[in-house]
Amino acid sequence: MNTKIVIVGVSGRMGMALLEGVFADDELMLHAALDRAESAYIGRNVGAQFGVDSEVKVSDEIAAINGADVLIDFTRPEASMQYVKACQQAGVKMVIGTTGFIEAEKIKIETASKDNAIVFAPNMSVGVTLLLNLVEQAAKVLGDDYDIEVVEMHHRHKVDAPSGTALRLGDAAAQGLGRNIKDCAVYAREGFTGEREAGKIGFATLRGGDVVGDHTVIYAGTGERVEITHKASSRATFALGALRAAKFLSNKETGLFDMQDVLGFK
Ligand code: NAD
Repeated sequence: MNTKIVIVGVSGRMGMALLEGVFADDELMLHAALDRAESAYIGRNVGAQFGVDSEVKVSDEIAAINGADVLIDFTRPEASMQYVKACQQAGVKMVIGTTGFIEAEKIKIETASKDNAIVFAPNMSVGVTLLLNLVEQAAKVLGDDYDIEVVEMHHRHKVDAPSGTALRLGDAAAQGLGRNIKDCAVYAREGFTGEREAGKIGFATLRGGDVVGDHTVIYAGTGERVEITHKASSRATFALGALRAAKFLSNKETGLFDMQDVLGFK
């Protein structure tokens, strides 16, 4: 039987990518599409812009989640917390991709997962999840004789550096070496830096154009170099990961999971 999906924040960038993904997937069925009352999309037929015959109209009625299997949330923390409460009451599982929660909110999400299963992950890309795992493994195998550098490139509008994913990759490499990234990270080099210190993990940032997100971890040893690279080309990668997470929940009743669980790494 098809998994009945609710998409919230449906008029957002991720909401649109999720809609497209659900319509293209035979195992999933759109049960409801929600957004905030002020959204210009309220009342619109969601299938129309994708050329799909769907009865679903964008609504702000939270009761529309009743009878659904999984609610997928990429909105804002304050909205997510309302949906967490509603899903807890209605017996609906959740995939939460929203970022920026404070600790108290994360605890509420964990508590809610004791009633209905939740996948909660700040990066739903299947490729990035795999990369994190590979990077840790490679660091473990190659060890201290290989110098580790993390290189990332993003579009010209990105305001922070290095990217959150680059930081997580550095952390994964440090864990593979049994170290704490705080003790070995080098975030910038300029001028007379002296020789590279053994055991450090370096970061380099490139910015330009419309690059969605490229990440490479380099392990430079004596006589060889290993490079592990991920390149994101669209938001579809996050949407497809979220849909994979929704399917993963089909045989889970309770519990809090992340993308490592979804991909079977744990
Ligand atoms: P966006 O601004 O394009 O869309 C946000 C949507 O949420 C809009 O439709 C908006 O109307 C809706 N919304 C906001 N407040 C609401 C409320 N109170 N009630 C109901 N709906 C509300 O943002 P986006 O780029 O789609 O990103 C959304 C979230 O997903 C962000 O937190 C972003 O960091 C996160 N994100 C996570 C991943 C991941 O892999 N986990 C990937 C991309 C984005």
